[in-house]
Amino acid sequence: MELLPFFTEKHRELESTVRQFAERDVAPCAVEDEHEEARARELIRLMASAGLLRYVVPEAYGGLSPRLDVRSLCLIRDGLAYVSGLADTMFAMQGLGSYPITLAGSEALKRRYLPPVARGEAIAAFALTEPEAGSDVSAIQATANRMDDRYELNGIKTFISNAGLADFYVVFAKTDPGQGHRGLSAFVVEASTPGFVLDEKLALIASHPIGRVKFERCHIPRDHLLGEEGEGFKIAMQTLDVFRSTVAAAAVGMARRALDEALAYSQRRVQFGRPLAEFQGIQFKLAEMATELEAARLLVYRAAWKKDRGAARVTRESSMAKFYATEAAQRIIDQAVQIHGGQGVVRGSVVERLYREIRALRIYEGTSEIQRIVIARELLKGC
Ligand SMILES: Cc1cc2nc3c(=O)[nH]c(=O)nc-3n(C[C@H](O)[C@H](O)[C@H](O)COP(=O)(O)OP(=O)(O)OC[C@H]3O[C@@H](n4cnc5c(N)ncnc54)[C@H](O)[C@@H]3O)c2cc1C
Repeated sequence: MELLPFFTEKHRELESTVRQFAERDVAPCAVEDEHEEARARELIRLMASAGLLRYVVPEAYGGLSPRLDVRSLCLIRDGLAYVSGLADTMFAMQGLGSYPITLAGSEALKRRYLPPVARGEAIAAFALTEPEAGSDVSAIQATANRMDDRYELNGIKTFISNAGLADFYVVFAKTDPGQGHRGLSAFVVEASTPGFVLDEKLALIASHPIGRVKFERCHIPRDHLLGEEGEGFKIAMQTLDVFRSTVAAAAVGMARRALDEALAYSQRRVQFGRPLAEFQGIQFKLAEMATELEAARLLVYRAAWKKDRGAARVTRESSMAKFYATEAAQRIIDQAVQIHGGQGVVRGSVVERLYREIRALRIYEGTSEIQRIVIARELLKGC
């Protein structure tokens, strides 16, 4: 893969390390079977021993740089998603589930939770969505009531990646229900806390550990609050500001794989006495796929580079990257399936798996419709 000018030598080395790791260690776990949880845990173990999980926490807590390097996160997700959606999910969740602690946790919380995440000894989760609060975060109904030295947490969270697998969850709940999203606070909740219940596991169209969890009079120490009361929405948005570009990077990885598969197949498959790649109709498809992929990569790594250069917020850039890259990847993968003809829909073929894996990326961490709303709001600001 041609590396862009946004990268340093360190990024070039990381890109090649991830590619080798993914081919050697991750590819065998890409085969879907009924042992999803075991594969997920094995992937965490492998990523930890390869040192990749050190990229999701700061240096002071077992990481590799003083603050998270978003280009590195993107390169890793891009490289993992090329081979396995599950590996990408497991890597991403270690970041998404721990970054609120990096952002707003006390020193004690950082020391307790971040090093085990980097070593793969603790699995993290991020619990924002509820049955009645998906895109509309202000509709969250989970409550956290302060009682002396504790909070009592009550509520339901759904579509939580790593539900049942995670050792701790960053949970968003209302400390001031009258205040809409301003009444939201964030907490670290260990899965072993009495009152924490794994309610149901959900089966998705592609491999992804996910489910619904409940908090029933779940008492958590007061010092498990992240930041101040009422800062939950800000913490969630700042987290998404970083991780949205990385979702886009995963989409780029999947689209790159689809294009590679389509290029190889179209040169192999002969119809009407010629390889498919010699037909202009197929060449046009390949040209469009490659162009959209390149545009997506530029948006992704531009957003990551800008964040790494110290921009406080990259809301517009990361939303554009997520919106464009996930939608483009869906189109690219669809064309790759088309180029494969009947082979493209045979269960177990690479493009068939990508076709299922890409779908959720247009939904989680803000749907494409929500990204459009965010981009338009940013454009109209100050007009
Ligand atoms: C694979 C996967 C993993 C996930 N992991 C997590 C996780 O780890 N933690 C977590 O908290 N959540 C997670 N989610 C939840 C995810 O963030 C939500 O599904 C997402 O925010 C959308 O919410 P919803 O499903 O309730 O859809 P809704 O908000 O009900 O939206 C339904 C449809 O209406 C559209 N819509 C909504 N509002 C508007 C509007 N104002 N204008 C135009 N269209 C609109 C949406 O774009 C969508 O197309 C995950 C979801 C998936 C699929």
